[in-house]
Amino acid sequence: MLTQLKRIVQEVNQIPILDDALTFLARRLQDTMKVDCCSIYLANYEQQHFMLMATEGLSKEAIGQVAIGFSEGLIGLIGQREEPINIEDAQSHPRFKHYPEVKEEKYHAFLGTPIIHQRKVLGVMTIQQKRKRKFSEDEEAFLVTLAAQMALEIAHAEARGALNLSDELTRQTWQKSLRGVPGSNGLAIGVGHIPNIKFNLRGLMLRRNADATDQIARYREAVRLTRDEVQKLSDKMQGRVPDDVLAIFHLYQHLLDANSLGHEVEAKVQSGWDAASSLKMVVESYINQFRSMDDPYMQERAVDVEDLGNRVLGHLLKTNQEQRPVPDQAILVAEEVSASMLAEFPHGKLQGIISMRGSNNSHAAILARAMGLPAVMGVTDIPLSLLSGKDILLDGYSGEVIVSPSQAIRQEFQQLINEERELYGLLQEQADLPAETRDGHRVELLINAGLSAELEGIHSEVGDGVGLYRTEVPFMMRERFPSEQEQCKLYRSVLSINPAKNITMRTLDVGGDKPLPYFPVTEENPFLGWRGIRMTLDHPEIFLVQVRAMLRASLGLDNLKIMLPMISTINEVNESKRLIRQAYYEVAEEAQLDGQTLSMPEVGVMLEVPAVIYQLPQLAAKVDFFSIGSNDLTQYLLAVDRNNARVSGLYDSYHPAVLKALKLIVEEASKLNKPVTLCGELAGEPGGAILLLAMGYRKLSMNSFNLAKVKWVIRTLSMADAELLLEEVLDLEHPHQVRDRINRHLETLGLGGLVRAGK
Ligand code: PEP
Ligand code: MG
Repeated sequence: MLTQLKRIVQEVNQIPILDDALTFLARRLQDTMKVDCCSIYLANYEQQHFMLMATEGLSKEAIGQVAIGFSEGLIGLIGQREEPINIEDAQSHPRFKHYPEVKEEKYHAFLGTPIIHQRKVLGVMTIQQKRKRKFSEDEEAFLVTLAAQMALEIAHAEARGALNLSDELTRQTWQKSLRGVPGSNGLAIGVGHIPNIKFNLRGLMLRRNADATDQIARYREAVRLTRDEVQKLSDKMQGRVPDDVLAIFHLYQHLLDANSLGHEVEAKVQSGWDAASSLKMVVESYINQFRSMDDPYMQERAVDVEDLGNRVLGHLLKTNQEQRPVPDQAILVAEEVSASMLAEFPHGKLQGIISMRGSNNSHAAILARAMGLPAVMGVTDIPLSLLSGKDILLDGYSGEVIVSPSQAIRQEFQQLINEERELYGLLQEQADLPAETRDGHRVELLINAGLSAELEGIHSEVGDGVGLYRTEVPFMMRERFPSEQEQCKLYRSVLSINPAKNITMRTLDVGGDKPLPYFPVTEENPFLGWRGIRMTLDHPEIFLVQVRAMLRASLGLDNLKIMLPMISTINEVNESKRLIRQAYYEVAEEAQLDGQTLSMPEVGVMLEVPAVIYQLPQLAAKVDFFSIGSNDLTQYLLAVDRNNARVSGLYDSYHPAVLKALKLIVEEASKLNKPVTLCGELAGEPGGAILLLAMGYRKLSMNSFNLAKVKWVIRTLSMADAELLLEEVLDLEHPHQVRDRINRHLETLGLGGLVRAGK
């Protein structure tokens, strides 16, 4: 069963046109399940009906003609109930509705299952039989499994079909709205741009082109370039890999021969397809042939054929792409946005970010917020290449991306952007005033920095110091670990921004969604794995070099604090402190020779693994301060991967359990007389800041863009009101109730402008 299922899914995936794929699916399913009839209906939400899209067994004339209302018949019932219906005799079911056009009088047994993607019913798949009988559990399970697998394909194909219309046509006729996870607040208008685009035959839509001579010439040139590339690769590998691996390159060269691929591709071009489409069709049929061979070795070769096809495609399309300059108003689109990608992008042109992977608290989203750039994460319903060169409106509050917008929507969006700018102007007017509530409570507002020093607008006047300097980015941007000298120079430049203000530097926190390109680690669960202090304690040489660099950089400035990430045991603190002391003696000795005195910096720990909440007294005895990483604390308390768009709806720092944990920590820290800062993203949200103040936090660290907003909130607020609000929300059951209640409060304070559609 499993093999059949896999094969059907694979075969369907190879068919680029949705209608064709559904027709094939219906035929294949009828055959595999040995039933009399199989049909597929797709939902149309505008029209509120299911349209018959493919069938084997019903009248073919009804395809594209018969529409069944969302609340009509058995198909409507499956959609409403969102579960399969398995009945012996459909015609005697009270919800059966007769549609004469489909000609189904002869069928009795009926099994239908919804096709659901991200909680949305995309369609219904049915099988029918003349004989009255109930379908078996196995048959039902097979259909349900297949529908679940097809759902993603259908979602992709719909988006692909929609976006592959020519720009002009798209603009005139309609726009497409895609949904992701809100990554960074704000609105942006721009043109999609993909740096280092990687071409993939799978996502390519077929196009026609009548100029066969030109297309063949392009194809031949692409093959020539691919041949050179493969030859170079093969030469490079000679002697370094076994002969059977080298044989793959020979297979490539053979396939590139005019008599193999070339012959068939050119025949397709002659029949009216463009070169890329022809290549796709031929390569995919080869892939199928290889996959269906009995010999497992030959089956594996399908991967090589696909790789080769992608290489030729790359050369075929690259010339157009490379000439496409970065648009003046660009929306950066990437599979996964990295810090280095942002650093290389021409900043003046960057308006917003779309990342196919990641979620609201991925580091790419945190970086976007630090740069004040709107971002939408986890946009999975579309092959990325289709956004290249398209007009895009991006709503970082709601996670919506509108592609090829109509003129009217574009104007509305522009109006909202203008209003936002005005609001920021107002915020800036308060920037120099103290962060003090109406009833006289002073709050220390610190900066989160380091994701990228020059991108974050840090300067000496901003904030009361740096509460979190993330050191990992300079590590991520290199091709090897930075030397002590390089690190020292960088840290010195940060510490000297304002020697009167404390700078809390966190030791390297790589792992999770922050891998080092030159130190790859493959793990099943990276966020529960070798991350932060766990990794650096296993590599004291890396830890010591970093701490020494920090200490040397602090000579004469004395404004350094050192913070340890991902602490989960007291032993990690003991070990880290031992190494810090060792580094201190080494640097202090060196300094003494130069007549300088090195001060021992304060050492603190991040509270981000729930275990430490229950060991605060023991920790307090060892360290000088605490700092809460609410991003990770939320992830670990709720067991929700902060980087996974699929569960982003569950990741919420306003969850009452998270709020209770935060309250407990600040109360305990105050009893223990330990200073505590909160440096997760929650501190930079207006609502989050209010709740944290009410709990007793007086030190909040956030990006410089949010600092102005939070300061405004604090200056508008009275602590007494905030405490009442906190009491109320702690009794609520759901994060969204907390959010609604806080937003209402912000509105009564006249701060409604800071609240937009969010979760
Ligand atoms: C946190 O976890 O809240 C934090 C500040 O650290 P990071 O986001 O870098 O993991
Ligand atoms: Mg963290």
